[in-house]
Amino acid sequence: MSKSKVLLIYTGGTIGMMQDVKTGQLKPFDFKHLTEQIPELNKFDIVLSSVSFEKPIDSSDMQPSVWIEIAKLIEKNYDKVDGFVILHGSDTMSFTASALSFMLENLSKPVILTGSQLPIGTIRTDGKENLITAIEIAASKEKKKSIVSEVCIYFEFQLYRGNRTHKFNAEQFQAFQTSNYPVLAEAGVNLKYNKAALKKANTKKLKIHTSLNPNIAILKVFPGITPNVVEAIVNAKGLKGIILETFGSGNASTQKWFIDSIKKAIDKGIVVLNVTQCNAGKVEQGKYATSAAFKKIGVIGGADITSEAAVAKLMFVLGSSSSKKEIEKSLKTDLRGEITV
Ligand code: ASP
Repeated sequence: MSKSKVLLIYTGGTIGMMQDVKTGQLKPFDFKHLTEQIPELNKFDIVLSSVSFEKPIDSSDMQPSVWIEIAKLIEKNYDKVDGFVILHGSDTMSFTASALSFMLENLSKPVILTGSQLPIGTIRTDGKENLITAIEIAASKEKKKSIVSEVCIYFEFQLYRGNRTHKFNAEQFQAFQTSNYPVLAEAGVNLKYNKAALKKANTKKLKIHTSLNPNIAILKVFPGITPNVVEAIVNAKGLKGIILETFGSGNASTQKWFIDSIKKAIDKGIVVLNVTQCNAGKVEQGKYATSAAFKKIGVIGGADITSEAAVAKLMFVLGSSSSKKEIEKSLKTDLRGEITV
């Protein structure tokens, strides 16, 4: 049987950093020397190739233009390899995983994002295990077909659906969770896949979407939010979409000025998507009186979408269509396993 082939894409983040002996600062190491850092990689029965961004970035500097670059790299190499591992900083990994899930339609191969909390050169690094197992997952097949055929995050012994994740811990090695979706696989003595939760393999041809519209805002409500702040956001020049981060199951203040501001935005053609501030559970507009007005004025309920996936989905949907009807339909539809409908 021929060996599985995996392409590593190094974008930056802590995982690829090393401490400079002179300055003590963290800086990216030359990715060509990866096997010197992780000799275990030589033991794999996998053909590994790698590409590194010329200037690796801290993921806090991530931009939609970089998502497009990654999606194009995947498209270019799609027929040459069996799976992809993307090394990425953990801070915005959930946003990138979500964006790629929308940009890569009909995916039938694994795209696994991973990183670490401690640089790979440090003794207690979590990066080695994360990288080694991510590669193993990207190469894993059953009956000649990839076991995983979606965009995932692998971190600290768990494989997650990328567009369901959020980074919830800046300290512990277990940095991610998917409160509204089961874990896709667990790495213990064996790699145990939760096959019922994995996306079914796609038989259609990969289609990439590279048109993203970043003219969106997140409006997180809080008790005491003032009209000036809300007005400044809804009147932002060129704004096309608002993610309204609400309390509990989609609730917010019933004050007239607040509802009027949101209605004015919708009347102007701005798409407003209601997403809960809670980590788990979903938006149900109309359940409480404090969300009934949203339903009436045309706010779209985001169900159980994460804010990270909402950002990516809104950019993707606004970039793909200008029809209000189509945009609304896409936001209410489960496109890539990102919502439960
Ligand atoms: N600030 C880093 C980044 O997101 C943290 C990490 O790599 O985990 O790039």
